[in-house]
Amino acid sequence: MKSNFFEFALSCFFPHQCPYCRKIIRSGLTECEECLRNFPKEPKKMMTPVGILCIAPFAYEAAVRNSIIDFKFHGSSFNARSYAKAICQVTEHEAIIDKFDLITFVPLSKIRKNERGFNQSALVAEYVGEQLGKPVKPLLEKIRQNKNQHDLSFSERVQNVKGIYKPVNKDLIRDKDILLIDDIVTTGNTLAECCKVLKESGAGNIICMTIAVAGAV
Ligand SMILES: [Zn+2]
Repeated sequence: MKSNFFEFALSCFFPHQCPYCRKIIRSGLTECEECLRNFPKEPKKMMTPVGILCIAPFAYEAAVRNSIIDFKFHGSSFNARSYAKAICQVTEHEAIIDKFDLITFVPLSKIRKNERGFNQSALVAEYVGEQLGKPVKPLLEKIRQNKNQHDLSFSERVQNVKGIYKPVNKDLIRDKDILLIDDIVTTGNTLAECCKVLKESGAGNIICMTIAVAGAV
């Protein structure tokens, strides 16, 4: 209650903007009504290189792309609530809510997390967990900093993620059906490597979801 009042008071002085069109929005909303109405009706899908499906509410283009850049690099952490809402709508649309026991996210290296101040995928995962009433657990850690995937060629991207993740605790993974969340999927190599480590640690079914799919059809 106290924090709700605090958030309300804060929003009077620093009103939130719609993540997509940047219009000022009323306290309590996570995006403007028009952008909410314009959420895509059909999810975007791509198959990761390990044959595990990745589903996302948005294509990585136009206003969504700009909002994700603001989210990751310009401190717009408020956007996470709207992305989580869009992801939850997709879990409903695809009838996959009962197909996972817990939610996890692609980890950042310690260096990158310190630079950015937060893990953007973890934040979205937290809100998705809150909205779906599912536990969110950090199941993977990134053991070394690699190059940015988007600076590399396709074949370099495959090599760049090899062996950089390890399980935090295999007991938390074994026999669990898992929803794995990341911010954007492009070639799917990062998600594929995480899936591989989860599978090697005994995970059951895995579903990948991101805010957006780059190059989605
Ligand atoms: Zn808007």
